[in-house]
Amino acid sequence: MVAEVQTVRGPVDVGQLGTTLMHEHVFVLTPDVMQNYGHEWWDEQERVTDAVSKLRALKAVGVDTIVDPTVVGLGRYIPRVQAVAAQVDINIITATGLYTFDEIPHYFHYRGPGTLFDGPELMVEMFVRDIRDGIGGTVVRAAFLKCVVEEAGLTPDQTRVQAAICEAHQQTGVPITVHTNAAHQTGRLALSFYEQRGVDVTKVVVGHAGDSNDLDYLKWIMDKGATIGCDRFGLDMFNPTPDRVRTIAALCEQGYADRIVLSHDAACYMDFMSGEASQALLRQAMPNWNFLHISQDVLPALRNEGVTDEQIDTMLVDNPRRYFTSAS
Ligand SMILES: [Zn+2]
Repeated sequence: MVAEVQTVRGPVDVGQLGTTLMHEHVFVLTPDVMQNYGHEWWDEQERVTDAVSKLRALKAVGVDTIVDPTVVGLGRYIPRVQAVAAQVDINIITATGLYTFDEIPHYFHYRGPGTLFDGPELMVEMFVRDIRDGIGGTVVRAAFLKCVVEEAGLTPDQTRVQAAICEAHQQTGVPITVHTNAAHQTGRLALSFYEQRGVDVTKVVVGHAGDSNDLDYLKWIMDKGATIGCDRFGLDMFNPTPDRVRTIAALCEQGYADRIVLSHDAACYMDFMSGEASQALLRQAMPNWNFLHISQDVLPALRNEGVTDEQIDTMLVDNPRRYFTSAS
């Protein structure tokens, strides 16, 4: 049993992870846009300072670790995350993988088995290198794999990504978090694919499953041994908090607390929604979409619905620790 997990500041004993939010972003950015238009609005120092203050506030309400599934496709840039991590007393766990809903970037089109230039699957090489050696020339190593199975399902390109994820998982033993579309129940596609490829699905978090209140769907995932990500608290447009809370309470009552993790899918800064006008609209439409919502509002609501402190610890501490305890 490997008892250490890689974080931005180096390895940490899994027993020290403490209260862990399993799906939060430090920065979500669009590098092409930033490089060409960012001079109009991007201030590096301001953004780092802002991220530091948001993560310090999160630590102050008792969160010890965030798991950041920002990968290629979401503007991952580790030196900026390192600058933040150096100033906060919170563990940040980073990922490798590819965030795309249907097609892979053109960079990959002509390289890899059966393509114009053929050769080995470079996605596997990239993912494994990030996990074993470090990301982008830094010493920061990825501790899990992140990918997507969206409404479009397992398109040919997406199948190639998923196969690369499975291969990297098998070579390294690190767990997987897959972004899914709960309305289309794409967790079924993802888990079935992983099972066919021999992935240990107890090492899979089906991200965004908590956007659904369909207990049959959620239990189908958990009965296979996978974990559901109830990881968009505050994103009321997908599922309002009271409904998310009732669903989790019902599942806890039926004995599923050991297959549930909690988070917001929030970011210190996300350029999808940057700009004062968008921010104002967002605050109005989804006032609770921030790092503090679970600690301040959701946990009391869960307790009101009969969820015990022990079950809350299971979801926030034990399940993340188990997920990052590698068998390899
Ligand atoms: Zn996310």
